[in-house]
Amino acid sequence: MASPLNKLRELSAQIRQLECALELLDWDSQTGAPAGGVEGRAAQIALLSEIIHQKLSSSSLGRLLDAAEREPAAKEFFNARLIRFLRREYEINTKVPARFVSRFARLTVTAQRVWEEARSNNDFKRFSPYLHDIFQMNAEYSGFFAGEHIYEPLLRRFEPGFSAGEVERVIGELRPAQVALVKRAVTEEKARGATLLRHKFSIGAQKRLTQWAAGILGFDFNCGVISESMHPFTCTVGVHDVRITTNYRESDLSSLFSTFHETGHALYEQNVAESLIGGVLGSQVSLSLHESQSRLWENMVGRSPDFLHCVYKQIKRFFPRVATTMEEDDFVAVVNEVAPSLIRVDADEATYNLHIIIRFELELALLRGELSVADLPEAWRAKVVEYLGIAPGSDTDGVLQDVHWACGLIGYFPTYLLGNLISAQIWRAANRAIPDLPYQLRRGQTSALRQYLTEKLYVFGGAYDAEEALEHICGEKLSPEPYLEYLRNKFL
Ligand code: ZN
Repeated sequence: MASPLNKLRELSAQIRQLECALELLDWDSQTGAPAGGVEGRAAQIALLSEIIHQKLSSSSLGRLLDAAEREPAAKEFFNARLIRFLRREYEINTKVPARFVSRFARLTVTAQRVWEEARSNNDFKRFSPYLHDIFQMNAEYSGFFAGEHIYEPLLRRFEPGFSAGEVERVIGELRPAQVALVKRAVTEEKARGATLLRHKFSIGAQKRLTQWAAGILGFDFNCGVISESMHPFTCTVGVHDVRITTNYRESDLSSLFSTFHETGHALYEQNVAESLIGGVLGSQVSLSLHESQSRLWENMVGRSPDFLHCVYKQIKRFFPRVATTMEEDDFVAVVNEVAPSLIRVDADEATYNLHIIIRFELELALLRGELSVADLPEAWRAKVVEYLGIAPGSDTDGVLQDVHWACGLIGYFPTYLLGNLISAQIWRAANRAIPDLPYQLRRGQTSALRQYLTEKLYVFGGAYDAEEALEHICGEKLSPEPYLEYLRNKFL
């Protein structure tokens, strides 16, 4: 008869298969599925989510976990992590009623449709009743976990490693330093008089550049593909099948940097240990940790003057006319320009965190009842003025710009900011371990860095929480200082 631990492994494989099926549905809906099929897909998604919820909240899982914890092998590292993962999920899923899960799913499917409409018509009033219900249901969700910080259960869905109190403290520490830094970086930029060159970049050449960009970072094309979607994303739809997307605009090279970003996510997924793939620990557990890798490859590598030296050679190859009017130095300056902007997804490295801080503070105020949804656009505007020094002319460029809240994802945004902080801590450790890393990157050599990150992080899949990974790789706790230091070195 199978031991309780073996039964947990079987369950872990089943849950993972169901999650992959959900990812495949998501991939399909974002990469070309017909709009008419939306209701059918919503029914499939709801059914799969319900099955996962049933499996993770059944009393038999509770008994199995109790029995598995008594096995001597339960103390071995990966067994202990599997038990911990399923124990957390069990405790969450048994506290949240199935009826709440389906009510919330229905609300967010409709809310997303309304949000799209509201955003294209700059009509916040149309969306506000849905947003009100979404925040109310998130507060209700928090209420299932009585006695905790109101943000804690929401954050935990995406980031189990850090407490809400800790995130609040770190953000409080980061904000004034980051605001001051951006003010100075923008001034310096103007003083330098960086040449802003505007060109047209043909989509065909961008597609070839994208293949090169993913390839040079180490994307495994045998176990992955690159496609297109409105918003770039990465998903793992099965064993050895990790997919990324990008989005092409003739006016700029954002496809290049989004490819670096998504390839960073994909490298994590493609290098998980064979023994973990196919189970719940075969993929991300901490979104912050995952984001740290996309940011590290996109920014610390992809926007470093050293690596841009070899990127520029490809610009010359794919866009020969552009290269005749844009020197390498101009290119490096343009892709590292610091300029406060209204749209989060287009924000540069130095200002990005401020966009997240705005969302985090507003989420907290709404959840605590200190702010009403009706007053949200005005509160948004005031914070953008205060932190970024500019004001959105419309709600489309303000409070309606992100899809996250319409999807019900409250507590998600901080993982972007935490990912930035973690990326700098890991980057510092990697540079200590590989002293000639800048020289290697200048020559387009990424294998030593990839190998270092694989051994230290990727092979462990979702076994580590973010805090544990930081301890394991850097021997330190989460801190905003290395990221601030990285920004100061680069932009001041
Ligand atoms: Zn990302």
